[in-house]
Amino acid sequence: MAAVDTFSREHATSLDQNDALSFTRNEFIVPTKAEALSKSLSERGTGVVDLGRGDDEGSRPCTYLVGNSLGLQPKRTATRVKQYLDTWATQGVQGHFKPLEGSPLPTWLDADDQIARMMAPIVGADPSEVAVMQTLTANLHFLMSAFYKPDRNGRHKIILEAKAFPSDHFLVETQIRHHGLSTKDSMVLIEPETWDEPLLATEKILAAIEENASTTALLLLPGIQYYTGQLLDIPRITGFARERGIFVIWDLAHAAGNVVLKLHEWNVDAAAWCTYKYLNSGPGCIAGLFVHSRNSSVSSKIEDDGSEGGYTNRLAGWWGNEKKTRFVMANKYHPAVGAAGFQISNPSIIDITSVTASLEVYQLAGGLGPLREKSKKLTAYLESLLNNMPQDLRGLFKQITSTNPDERGAQLSLLLSPGLLNTVMEELEKEAVFVDERKPDVIRVAPAPLYNTFEDCFNFVEVFGKALRVAIGSKE
Ligand SMILES: *Cc1c(COP(=O)(O)O)cnc(C)c1O
Repeated sequence: MAAVDTFSREHATSLDQNDALSFTRNEFIVPTKAEALSKSLSERGTGVVDLGRGDDEGSRPCTYLVGNSLGLQPKRTATRVKQYLDTWATQGVQGHFKPLEGSPLPTWLDADDQIARMMAPIVGADPSEVAVMQTLTANLHFLMSAFYKPDRNGRHKIILEAKAFPSDHFLVETQIRHHGLSTKDSMVLIEPETWDEPLLATEKILAAIEENASTTALLLLPGIQYYTGQLLDIPRITGFARERGIFVIWDLAHAAGNVVLKLHEWNVDAAAWCTYKYLNSGPGCIAGLFVHSRNSSVSSKIEDDGSEGGYTNRLAGWWGNEKKTRFVMANKYHPAVGAAGFQISNPSIIDITSVTASLEVYQLAGGLGPLREKSKKLTAYLESLLNNMPQDLRGLFKQITSTNPDERGAQLSLLLSPGLLNTVMEELEKEAVFVDERKPDVIRVAPAPLYNTFEDCFNFVEVFGKALRVAIGSKE
């Protein structure tokens, strides 16, 4: 047998052919190169936009490696949303409670329960511990309103990472001020040993927790760090902080739908995540919330006189009231048991329908177990191609993300030598290769296992090599 060049395109396509999960790509609309480069809105499926080159180059799919930022659109999203629109159009208000034969969608009154059941396996929770509601940052604020009750003479600090995603940083700052405290005293920022090596060692995190153990109320960390792609040791950090009486919240924006999570088993107190990154529900779509069952019990009864107690205090709305008495309108707030009791408003059904479509694709794939296995292979393959680039090019960037597959998700973050980023991004875009940039010098490349292929990784590295050459002014 002739030796196979493991760095050839043929090898990439053979990996795709042998991939048992390759079928899920067909569940997605992958923009063509022409569509992606077009400057006008074209209706999908009306034909190929002419690139004016007299070839069919424009009809080939683009190379989309930004599922960490905005996932591609599942084909079934349009089908499900149309079914929702038809329900609304033909039933009006009856859509709330009238089940329709032949409809795969629940009544709007039950939509929250059904989507919680579908979402629960994504984060490893009991359905009663999950609510699909609001948006990520809003949910973190709502969780804090319930669980951050600082005592200025006791536990008042919040620990987070020094370079948290801005929204997480702002929400902690403003929560602290909202309670009349100062960020100087109450905000603890964990820094890496040196900013040249931005990964946060677990020991470093545990040391920060230990140092502030008796004065800390709450820990907020990302399951996967958005910039470095680092997957944190969620069970170990959670256990360590909880043993010291600290309430632990995880921001799972980059972890949900990307890696296997077992929030209940890991004893995580609470968590929130968005659904538009790896979960493919569309920009700004409704988000997820987890509250461990031990934190959401309700011991009071609706008949009680309405005085405080019997449940964790929270910022409430009517949708968090138990279903049985929600419509009694007696103005006696009585939360539902579980995460559902943290809901505020009646949820956007068009959003929930979109999440439903996307989670159906996860079900087709057999859940996160098999997807994560594929993801590890895909990202390791990308890494091997990068490492095999000619030495003069390989020297122009550094992989920030861990080389250990258990310490990362799908994404690799690459730190380019200063001054290359703009040209590299321009050159990639010309070839309809999409990655995202974090100024000044980082690109993030995320092969999503639901729709990306080994050949996508190959395409990226090929065009990236050319782009680097252009950027250093040494054209081939
Ligand atoms: C994407 C992301 C957000 C975005 O928050 P929204 O409320 O959905 O706008 C927040 N935090 C992290 C860590 C993220 O990665």
